[in-house]
Amino acid sequence: MKTLLNLAGVACISALVFTACKKNVAETVVQEEVSSAVLSKIQNLGFSTQGVHKVANGYLVEGDITLTDENLNVPSSSPNLIIASEEQYRTTNLVTRLPRTITVSVTNLPTVYSDATNNAINRYNNQHLGITFQRVSSGGNIDIIGFNQGPSGGYITLGSSGFPTASGDPYNQIQMNTNAQAYGTNPDPLYMASVIQHEMGHCIGFRHTDYMNRAYSCGGRHQNEGSAGVGAILIPGTPSKPDANSFMLACSNGTNRTFNANDLIALNYLY
Ligand SMILES: [Zn+2]
Repeated sequence: MKTLLNLAGVACISALVFTACKKNVAETVVQEEVSSAVLSKIQNLGFSTQGVHKVANGYLVEGDITLTDENLNVPSSSPNLIIASEEQYRTTNLVTRLPRTITVSVTNLPTVYSDATNNAINRYNNQHLGITFQRVSSGGNIDIIGFNQGPSGGYITLGSSGFPTASGDPYNQIQMNTNAQAYGTNPDPLYMASVIQHEMGHCIGFRHTDYMNRAYSCGGRHQNEGSAGVGAILIPGTPSKPDANSFMLACSNGTNRTFNANDLIALNYLY
């Protein structure tokens, strides 16, 4: 079984169906519950208005990113933007007051989610960055919770998160799908860890590596996720060519994808 995730993801039964799923990327537009005023704010922030969903604490955009009311209403202080090919980008806001320990808790989720979280934490901590993640039993700076949502339009969301606050704190929540069709009935903890690793990347300020054309990893029609607002700032030293295995590609290839060489350059540059 090949799984594509949209970090919103796509579960397909075979390579053939996989191709069919790719063609559906641009069709998963659910906008009716989002007002035109909100869509206008999202667009002004530089995000795609395709497939915007209302969620409890804001709006889900570009598959797995939550824009909160703060995100929507705080004016952009984004510096000049460098728009290039598939490279490493970050948001304007980063986690500040380094070195710093960020605690992570997992609330009401099966053991495999807990194990995957520990694995994702270790992947970051093994890089000896200015931020260190620490597992706690409850009330973490980032709390990982579950939601249960089946596929829609051929896609299934695997997880979601958001961006750092203007005051320099990480986004405080990661949501992971507990639906059996997201990770299967016997989830691979390493694959799940790669999804949590990706969502943690958003929490500390990483945008999608292919934000300018999510079709690069997701297939389907060219879709630029936009650049202003939260910012899309090129990280020096990362290549100006497609980076096929970046942990921050918008869509998963269904495998355990961790930091590649350019991801590590970006991580060390920022933290
Ligand atoms: Zn993402």
